[in-house]
Amino acid sequence: MESPGYSCGRNKVCVGQVVNIKAKVNRAFNSSMEVGVQVSHEDLCNGEQWNVCKAYATFVAQGKPTAKIKLTPLVPQTEEEKIEYSVAAERRRMRLAHADTIKGLLSKSPVQSELETRTCHSVVPAGETRVESVELILPPHANHQGNTFGGQIMAWMENVATIAASRLCHSHPTLKTIEMFHFRGPSQVGDRLVFKAIVNNAFKYSMEVGVCVEAYRHEMEVSRRHINSAFMTFVALDEEGQPRTLPVLKPEPGDGERRFKEASARQKIRLDRKYVISCKHTEVPLSVPWDESNKVYLSYNNVTALKTLVAKADWVPASERDKFKMYTLEEDTFLSIRIEMTTSIDAMQAFLLLSDLQRRHEWDRHYASCELVQQVDKDDMIYHVISQTMSEENKPQDFVVLVSRRKPCSKGDPYVVAFRSVTLPTHPAKPEYTRGETLCSGFCIWQETDELAKVAYYHQATSGVLTYITTNIAGLSSSFHSTFQACEQFLQKNKDDAYIEE
Ligand code: ADP
Repeated sequence: MESPGYSCGRNKVCVGQVVNIKAKVNRAFNSSMEVGVQVSHEDLCNGEQWNVCKAYATFVAQGKPTAKIKLTPLVPQTEEEKIEYSVAAERRRMRLAHADTIKGLLSKSPVQSELETRTCHSVVPAGETRVESVELILPPHANHQGNTFGGQIMAWMENVATIAASRLCHSHPTLKTIEMFHFRGPSQVGDRLVFKAIVNNAFKYSMEVGVCVEAYRHEMEVSRRHINSAFMTFVALDEEGQPRTLPVLKPEPGDGERRFKEASARQKIRLDRKYVISCKHTEVPLSVPWDESNKVYLSYNNVTALKTLVAKADWVPASERDKFKMYTLEEDTFLSIRIEMTTSIDAMQAFLLLSDLQRRHEWDRHYASCELVQQVDKDDMIYHVISQTMSEENKPQDFVVLVSRRKPCSKGDPYVVAFRSVTLPTHPAKPEYTRGETLCSGFCIWQETDELAKVAYYHQATSGVLTYITTNIAGLSSSFHSTFQACEQFLQKNKDDAYIEE
């Protein structure tokens, strides 16, 4: 089991309250599946419910040692299930890239020590927080096959981590998050498990404790099996529930210094992720500053926002002209538009053509020019686009957009090309242009038959332009129609081009 994001909410569960734990499989991949777990507590006196924390767990189905199991695909039914299903593929991608993300972060942007900015004087040598304990696996700790329960190991890990944390703060620490719990191999009844914990880094209000678990069977055994490692973030709260300032940690030389830096990198990722993902959709700033360290989460957010829009159940047909169908979706502060067609092209070819923004001017008259600013990775690119559309200030608009494209994860999935605005220090807004922003837009392309693909374009309009759009839906519909018609002609003209696929 592996958890990319387990976060304890602020709500404490008190004696006398009821805890509700809901778990369900969001998606089955090949032999692995993602399970979403949501914990809430309920006040029986007034019936109120509060979310406590949530986690995503990955389980792997194991068959005979030689045969890999192929799980039956799960078919999502409700809108919520469809969103979770679609986004699970994105979370998996992010999970698989996690180690590389940390590596990239350490090599590209040297982690700055925040020590200079700290006014706190007490310094604790990391060695003083070190904890080691040994547990013998007994039958109550294991399942019917004799394998130790993952939850039991996690509970022991939390124990040693809490002791290490309290050796730094000298009070009762509170666990905030657990990152990437990764069970590397099983352990059985009769094994001894060695738990080692130490504070890796202490920030102003939070600290990272690392725990490592090894197993051995006989006292004389030299080699130990590495079972698990995890990183837990703790805070120390005062009487008012406010986080206390923590002492500075002095890492041990060698591994200690490396872990100190890695903990800073993980904290940066956590904060970026919080900023980009956990804000409510409406609270996310239109353009998020792009940088090397938050690229994985920005790209996740970009694709997720589009996938969420695609999975919405309340799309209402607005117009149908020729082969183009237009739909609208009204939500609190957003009005979204979807226009779609079925055309004879290979879905992959349409995907390659539509994700190449440098060719967009061939069909979209709004794109006057488009410069590739940065090839982030194989599937993510940042472009600077200058549009012919005049702003209210009578200046041309320009945009800095992150384009994230995804091939289907399994059969039936669409190809996805998602766009969102980002800000880049190298491309600030200039007086000759009005800087435009787009929250979420993009294409979804489904292979319908061998020859036919369904191509849909989505655009989420923000509150600023909402009044304009609602009063001018007819005009908008006709403008979308002509642009999309040009898009189809472009696809038809180039459907046999040989695109070089990496
Ligand atoms: P890494 O060293 O890359 O962090 P490990 O799996 O070796 O990965 O260890 C995970 C965490 O467990 C470390 O970050 C550290 O906090 C803790 N740890 C590892 N070895 C020890 C040890 N001998 N004593 C105390 N804590 C340890």
